[in-house]
Amino acid sequence: MNNIAQHHNLKNKVIVISGAGGVLCAFLAKALAKTQAKIALLDINLDAANQVAEEINQAGGIAKAYQTNVLDLASIEQTRNAIAQDFGTCDILINGAGGNNPKATTDNEFHQFDLPTNTKTFFELDKSGIEFVFNLNYLGTLLPTQVFAKDMMGKAGANIVNISSMNAFTPLTKIPAYSGAKAAISNFTQWLAVYFSKVGIRCNAIAPGFLVSNQNRALLFDENGNPTARANKILTNTPMARFGEPEELLGALLFLIDSQYSSFVNGVIIPVDGGFSAYSGV
Ligand code: NAD
Repeated sequence: MNNIAQHHNLKNKVIVISGAGGVLCAFLAKALAKTQAKIALLDINLDAANQVAEEINQAGGIAKAYQTNVLDLASIEQTRNAIAQDFGTCDILINGAGGNNPKATTDNEFHQFDLPTNTKTFFELDKSGIEFVFNLNYLGTLLPTQVFAKDMMGKAGANIVNISSMNAFTPLTKIPAYSGAKAAISNFTQWLAVYFSKVGIRCNAIAPGFLVSNQNRALLFDENGNPTARANKILTNTPMARFGEPEELLGALLFLIDSQYSSFVNGVIIPVDGGFSAYSGV
């Protein structure tokens, strides 16, 4: 499946990916490099992004890492200028930086009258944690779009892909800020699609379901390979009764970014979730 990207020819296109040192976007960036596009890897963690760039370049692709804070306009603008010099201006922007924070996560799924006193409930959630999550996911998508979309207007095939989540459709227990921030991303994706419709930039999103990667495998399965209690809940609510693999996002992403396939697709949020968001549980 990893090889499907080579059937898409995006030669000379400049793809800018934020969060590119992270689990999903590093994987996606390596796969997208097979389209012959030039890949600009943005991450606050330069080492992580450099490692991805090195792997891509060693495999014959074209990539460069840029230390960038997606919450700092000056940093994004500096990166924009560097990319313009190295590769040319952006054609395709993938806003991948995002995530949750423990300070914005409750211990309990449901509030109760008789919880142990040390339980972190909704009432103990930390304002700074909630701000962190909203800023990283929402502003961290909006600010790079402000900077890069200026160059994308009128360019053939220009488009933006945001990363939403299952919790945007229905909030997941324990993570109200992350759920709200991803709902905002889905909404913003539609807003951008409309706003940029007259200047030739499409905007869509993918909403990954529950994926298993090396980083979260230990949280989802015990040492005998049996699903943990939360993993079991996920599987019970996933009609396909399994977790997804990061490579299963690739088809949806390629479809959206390659205008030969999706030139009239604008403002959609594609769930890649084994049917999770379609299932009521009954
Ligand atoms: P990750 O934590 O592995 O990667 C996120 C990357 O973003 C990291 O490399 C981090 O250094 C970088 N980053 C953090 N703050 C930044 C900042 N201010 N500026 C620039 N870079 C910054 O996350 P992931 O699991 O690969 O997720 C990628 C995206 O997919 C996120 O938007 C996440 O919310 C979303 N998502 C992930 C899953 C999943 O199962 N992993 C499911 C649904 C949605």
